[in-house]
Amino acid sequence: GFHGTSHKYVSQRAAEILGKPLSELKLITMHLGNGSSVSAVMHGHSVDTSMGFTPLAGVAMGTRCGDIDPAIVTYLMEKGGYNAEQVDELMNKESGVFGISGISSDFRDLESAMNTNERAKLALDMFAYDVKKLVGAYAAVMGGADALIFTAGIGENTKIIREQIADGLEFMGVKIDKEANDCRGIERDISAPDARVKTLVIPTNEELMIAKDTAELVK
Ligand code: AMP
Repeated sequence: GFHGTSHKYVSQRAAEILGKPLSELKLITMHLGNGSSVSAVMHGHSVDTSMGFTPLAGVAMGTRCGDIDPAIVTYLMEKGGYNAEQVDELMNKESGVFGISGISSDFRDLESAMNTNERAKLALDMFAYDVKKLVGAYAAVMGGADALIFTAGIGENTKIIREQIADGLEFMGVKIDKEANDCRGIERDISAPDARVKTLVIPTNEELMIAKDTAELVK
C-alpha cells in the first residue's frame, strides 16, 4: 500500500538488526511523517496497512483527517453547505493535527506549544492514541509481534510520541528505555533490557529501496 517502499525498507533492516530472517518475523512498522501509516508485516508480507483507497485513511496526520465516521461527509454537505470539492479540501488540507491544534501540522511546533496550548497537547495525544490503537489491532491480527519499528520525520525524531505510543503496551511485552529513546534521526534499539518485544528506530531510506527494486526488475 501507500509508503510501501518505506515499510519494506525498515522491515528488511529490522530483520538484519534482529539477526533473523524476515520470513520468520512479525513486525509492526510505523511510518510517522507528514503522512502516516502503520503496517502489519507478517513473515515478510504486509497483511494489513492503515491507508486505504487513498492516503486519507488511518491515523490523523499533519493535515489529513484519517479515519472518521463516513457520515460526517454527508453531514457537512447537508448541514454545512459544503460541496464535494470543499469537503475534500477540508479532509486533506485542514484536518489532522493541524485542524485539532489550530496552529500547525509540524510536530516541532506542537511540542513547543504543548505545555501552554491545550489543543496542541490534544493533537499530540490523539495522534499517539490512533497509532497505539493500530499497534494493538495489528498484534491481534498477527497473533503477537516480535518488534515495533518507528520511522519517518516524527517516528525518527519525536521521542514523546514514541514514549506515548509505547506507554501501556507492557501487557504485550513492549517496554522502551527512556534514555535510549532520547535520540533523533539515528538507528537505535530503544527497547528496555527486559522487553519481550523489541522497539527499533530505523531512519527510512525509500530511495535505496526504489534503487534496489529497480535493479531487481532490470535483472
Ligand atoms: P516526513 O513527512 O517524514 O518528512 O515528516 C515530516 C514530519 O516530521 C513533520 O511533522 C515534522 O514536524 C516532523 N519532524 C521532522 N523533523 C523533526 C524533528 N527534528 N523533531 C520533531 N519532529 C520532526
